[in-house]
Amino acid sequence: MVKVERDQTAVENYLKTLFGITEWDSTLSPTTAQVATGLGVTPSSVSSMVNKLAALGYVEHERYGAIELTKAGRVKAMSVVRRHRLLETYLVRALGFGWDEVHDEAEVLEHAVSNLMVERMDAALGYPWRDPHGDPIPTANGVFHQPVAWRLSELEQGETGYIARISDDDPDMLRYFQDHAIGLDSAVTIVERRPFGASTRIEVQADKGPEPHDLGELALDSLWVTRKPPLPRELSAEGCTYPDCRHAAFATGRTS
Ligand SMILES: [Zn+2]
Ligand SMILES: [Zn+2]
Repeated sequence: MVKVERDQTAVENYLKTLFGITEWDSTLSPTTAQVATGLGVTPSSVSSMVNKLAALGYVEHERYGAIELTKAGRVKAMSVVRRHRLLETYLVRALGFGWDEVHDEAEVLEHAVSNLMVERMDAALGYPWRDPHGDPIPTANGVFHQPVAWRLSELEQGETGYIARISDDDPDMLRYFQDHAIGLDSAVTIVERRPFGASTRIEVQADKGPEPHDLGELALDSLWVTRKPPLPRELSAEGCTYPDCRHAAFATGRTS
């Protein structure tokens, strides 16, 4: 019994990791090496798990090639992603956690919460469509609000972007962003790019006016932006504030 639960947790973590690698950068395709780095395990244990996932019908994998989720694999990945992101949102909004504190909690709870609890959290939060870091929450009716977005590092000098996602990999960086008024929907302008890997001067439109900061490459790469400002307050027809949103539909695995 315990072994079955452990296996289930591992399967869910792998599917979530595979989905996450390409979520914001579709030019990437998950390889054994990337999954190993993402999960902090050895490439050989990834290989044996990927064989198991293939046997379960969740992935397709050519030797030395990319690992692709099948439809069944995507359905299962989406359900884990939904649980993880609703938990993060619930911990922040209902329980007062900081956005830098919730990832590890959600990592554990996502394998334990019941579907009923997930639906209750969703309703209690008013059906949120993104989590505290801007990651889309797959909705109960199968919509995924994925904006057309770029890494902040891809913007030209003088361009302004609007923060749509902040990578939650590094809690220290999240705290740094918070201290510098960099949050979801903040307007950020690239003021000066400097050569030879030096930091980039940016300006954040904070409540008290524009605030200049110098960001290194790692921080710039952790921020995704849209080029058009978010819709003010009122939602798009499909329920999000992104002017350019894919409103991607996904299979929920439901039969009705
Ligand atoms: Zn998150
Ligand atoms: Zn949308």
